[in-house]
Order: sequence, then C-alpha cells, then structure tokens
Amino acid sequence: MENLSNIGVIRDLLARHGFRFSKALGQNFLVNPTVCPRMAEQGGAGPGVGVIEIGAGVGVLTAELARRADRVVCVEIDGRLLPVLAETLAGFQNVEIVNADVMKVDLRALIAEKLGGLRVVVCANLPYYITSPIVMGLLEQRLPIESVTVMVQKEAAQRLCALPGTREAGAVSCAVRYYSEPKVLFPVSRGSFLPSPDVDSAVIRLDIRREPPVDPGDEKTFFRVVRAAFSMRRKTLLNCLSAGLPLPKERAAALLERAGVPAGARAEQLTLEQFAAVSRALAEEP
Ligand code: SAM
Repeated sequence: MENLSNIGVIRDLLARHGFRFSKALGQNFLVNPTVCPRMAEQGGAGPGVGVIEIGAGVGVLTAELARRADRVVCVEIDGRLLPVLAETLAGFQNVEIVNADVMKVDLRALIAEKLGGLRVVVCANLPYYITSPIVMGLLEQRLPIESVTVMVQKEAAQRLCALPGTREAGAVSCAVRYYSEPKVLFPVSRGSFLPSPDVDSAVIRLDIRREPPVDPGDEKTFFRVVRAAFSMRRKTLLNCLSAGLPLPKERAAALLERAGVPAGARAEQLTLEQFAAVSRALAEEP
C-alpha cells in the first residue's frame, strides 16, 4: 500500500478498522513522508540485513525497512493493529509481525530463530513511555546486533547521547557510551506525528561496540559506582559514593585518592575512564 505516511490515508484506514489511538501505548504514528526512508537508510537496512522493529503502528516504517532489508521482524503489542498491518503490508513477503510485549520477548531467541545468518540491526519509532527500559534492555542483553536506530523524545536523545564528563551526562549516558557509540542523527518536529505529541523528537543511532571502551575491572562494580555517583545531583562524588555504595567517608575518600579522582568533583565531570578507575580501585579493596 502506498502513502502510509499520508494523514488522510491513515485516518481513512484507521476509521475503516474502527481503530482508536491508545495514549497508554505511546501511539503517535508518523505522518511525515521524509522520516521513515531516512531512518531505514541511516539505520542500515539493506541487502544481507535483518531488522528488528519495535511497534509497527500502521507499518509506515516497517514498509520502508522491508523495501531495503532481507527480512523484518516487528514486535507489536497491540493486537488491534494486526488486521490493519495485514492490509498495509500485504505486498511484502519478508515481514513478520510478532504480537507481543517487547519487554517480555526473548529477543535473543527471536533473532536466532527468525534472522539467523543475517547481520541484524534494530530500527524503531519507540513508544515513549518505555524508551529507556527498551534501549537499556537492548544494550545490556548484549544481543548479536550491530546498531540501534530509534526515534525518541528530544530530551531523551540528548540524555542518551551525552558525553560523560559534560553537564548533560547522567548514569544512562555512561551506560549507553559503555556499550555503544551514540550519535544524534536528525531532529523530528512534533507535527510529524498523528496525534501530535507535546514534545519534539530526534532519531539517534547507537553503534554497538565489540569491546568496552574502558577496563572497569568488574562490570557490576562499575555500574554500582556510576549509579551511586549520579544518585544525588548536587552533591560531591565523595558524598554520593559514601551514601550510595555505601562506604564510611574515610574509605570513600581513600578510594577516590587511589583512583586519582578529586573527592570534590561531581559525577557529571567524570569521564568513563575515571569511573572505571574508581570501579577498579573499589574491586581491589581488601
Ligand atoms: N512505527 C509506527 C510509526 O512510526 O508510526 C508506530 C510508532 S508508535 C510511537 C509506537 C508503537 O509501539 C505503537 O504501535 C504501539 O502499539 C507499540 N508499542 C507500545 N508498547 C509496546 C510494547 N511494550 N511492545 C511492543 N510494542 C509496543
């Protein structure tokens, strides 16, 4: 079916199927014809590639992915969209819709079963109510994927892609940077969606690293340190680590000294390498 990003076509399609948007499921469908082709291209859909999509909507991005990639598997939670998608994607033999909650699906098994032998990328216009759990889940599971190209709220894009050591950085930015090389690809205005959300969006791409960029010693300790460091935004690192790990203040101070990190620093001033140094020093504690 043509013109899946045309607002009149979508309204007509959804009316015929008696479909009503669910706010709770983050259903804002793309109606800007330039966005999906760009996402599919820059997300790496092409020959030899299998794509995992999350949330098909009426299949506007799914179709662009299917035109370029060998196979597309899309996880969509809303069963009411299945008859709509059966109509809009009828021309594609290389698409499969899995009617499930992406937070409950075994993505590793799904990839092995349905995309075996292909290079795999994730490309999706994410439901905004679970952006971070989805992105972090994709990264932490260490799935056999090359990249994650997703539309997220503009603020989430800035947070996910912020460089550790800069003011915008938080615990999530550190984790994203540890697992991937993130990049903001392009902005998308709120008017590009039906219904229009209250905020603008951006498409980001996370290129998955084969090796972590730093040696944290023990990974669990590294993430404990990062979480504790960012737990109280206006406090010093010394106070955050002492309260969050938890550790007596003198031990936290000695730890930072061994790691070569100033006790008065704030979490957002630390590079990933400095977090790794604190993590190694903590792991070596007697
Ligand atoms: N890809 C379409 C587009 O660009 O127009 C739809 C994007 S819309 C922002 C998000 C989609 O994710 C909706 O179709 C919604 O039903 C689906 N969704 C919401 N929560 C989900 C979940 N937990 N698992 C899978 N799909 C979900």
